[in-house]
Amino acid sequence: MSQNKVATLIRASIREQAAYHVPPADGFIKLDAMENPYRLPPEWVERWLAVLRELELNRYPDAGAGDLRTALKGFLGVPANMELMLGNGSDELIQLLCQAVIDSPLCLNRKPIVLSTDPGFVMYRFLAQACGLEYMGVPLKESGFALDTNAVLEAIDWYKPALVFLAYPNNPTGNLFKEIDMEKVIAAAPGLVVVDEAYQPFAESSFMDRLGSFDNLLVMRTVSKLGLAGIRLGALAGPAAWLRELDKLRLPYNINVLTQATARLACEYPQVFAEQAKRIRDERQRLYAEMEILEGIRPFPSRANFILFKTPAGRATAIFEFLKAKGVLVKNLSTAGGLLRDCLRVTVGASAENDVFLSILKESLLSQA
Ligand SMILES: *Cc1c(COP(=O)(O)O)cnc(C)c1O
Repeated sequence: MSQNKVATLIRASIREQAAYHVPPADGFIKLDAMENPYRLPPEWVERWLAVLRELELNRYPDAGAGDLRTALKGFLGVPANMELMLGNGSDELIQLLCQAVIDSPLCLNRKPIVLSTDPGFVMYRFLAQACGLEYMGVPLKESGFALDTNAVLEAIDWYKPALVFLAYPNNPTGNLFKEIDMEKVIAAAPGLVVVDEAYQPFAESSFMDRLGSFDNLLVMRTVSKLGLAGIRLGALAGPAAWLRELDKLRLPYNINVLTQATARLACEYPQVFAEQAKRIRDERQRLYAEMEILEGIRPFPSRANFILFKTPAGRATAIFEFLKAKGVLVKNLSTAGGLLRDCLRVTVGASAENDVFLSILKESLLSQA
């Protein structure tokens, strides 16, 4: 196939975009993707297998996933007067939101703008640009990665973003923005503000109860970080008037039969997930304390299931490679520069995994890797 032919069809901004890279992880202690390290209890698995046995895989799934949505509204604590829409992971919901504002009347004669923070979750930029929208990341403050409210409000005033994404807590920094700062942004935004609560089980703080207090607020959740990353299920909660329109862009069978059945059963065991989240929060506290006493390492406080940490100047990539060579996979963020200079991010794993990580991290500091 000639590159010329591809170039005449596929626009430059896609050809120049690097593909989303997921590193191979076979055999590694996997602390790079914020997965929950725990499996589900045998009793749950037995019931699950019985459910699977009865499924009719020859049939399309329930297109609106009505039963699952009802169960999830309870599980996630969605206010009774709010609606819920499901996606194939919250990534799909981010994509739908971007699609919904292409050619928005709010943005006559210019590309609609998607605004978030820098550092922020990479999929906001990736999916906005894939939809032909403009992306803007407003730098966080250096101190505590706080929202630079004045800068965000100025950008809102100037650029009138169609969509604002605020990850609460933020990925990859792990902190919760101040509620008062978030409220100022939501009140000022001319378009939708999506509070992305992917890490809610570890943050124990939420904007879900605020739905309805602002007519442009939506709250997004996912079961991925909670322990079900494999089934791909995200949820968007908010007023029916918004979700009714967004739902028209959703592919009719986006939540498959296996995912619907599995998630419905999961909703019957909220205490299992609550206990696992508690274990992860406890481990996070221990891991943080152990990292804090390491010479040269500076962990940042986290309300998520990962810890961002600074390594000695110029050593992040070498330490990342040292960990990898010894079988521990973390995320190297140092190449992004800016506030992430010298930074790596480790997911809170099971206790034994965290111990291995800590001991290899110590070794790498001593070895001058
Ligand atoms: C991991 C993550 C998501 C993606 O969740 P999926 O439901 O697995 O697509 C969304 N937002 C943030 C901030 C995340 O860190």
